[in-house]
Amino acid sequence: MDKTQLPKTVTVVDHPLVLHKLTLMRDKHTPSAVFRQLLREISLLLAYEVARDLPMTTQTIETPLAEMEAPILKGKKLVIVSILRAGNGLLEGMLDLMPSARVGHIGIYREHDTLTPVEYYFKIPAGGEARDFFVLDPMLATGGSAVDAVTALKRAGAQRIRFLCLVASPDGVRRLLGAHPDVPVYAAALDRTLNDKGYILPGLGDAGDRLFGTR
Ligand code: URA
Repeated sequence: MDKTQLPKTVTVVDHPLVLHKLTLMRDKHTPSAVFRQLLREISLLLAYEVARDLPMTTQTIETPLAEMEAPILKGKKLVIVSILRAGNGLLEGMLDLMPSARVGHIGIYREHDTLTPVEYYFKIPAGGEARDFFVLDPMLATGGSAVDAVTALKRAGAQRIRFLCLVASPDGVRRLLGAHPDVPVYAAALDRTLNDKGYILPGLGDAGDRLFGTR
């Protein structure tokens, strides 16, 4: 799958600043502190793109010179959902741009041998039906955790969900779109393939380990 074959619901945010920062993140010599900072910076740029079609309304305001009908976000009922633990790396940058958003967390890990996702934590704000959800996980690899997280959110009432990642694999994109065709996907890069352990190639390694220095 290359970029020209992508369905309309998949956006690769290949802005020069995003690509430059992603290259620095991929480099295995980049230390955790720099990796964390770069992820925060990229998430700001992704947030800008993913928020492009948020619903708007207008509000009457007075500038120092005149009254005007000015555009403003409608409802502002945004929820940023981090898939633990690597999703937290994207969270800070998103919150920098959307400071009044609520935050949810979903804990899912991949069962070692079968790669099956297991949900161990789920906490999101009430009133999900009326909110826009941004689900974060830096790596869309096999797609198992992403599918499971979106399924759990829908079960809890969420109706408008977008998925954001840094690096996606063709398998991950196919699996997420197959299970949830209504969920737009945003990624900074679409990589070549997965290895036999479910890691993205060329990828950037284990995003959680590189973020938190746990290897
Ligand atoms: N999770 C990661 O952190 N990296 C991958 O390449 C795949 C899953």
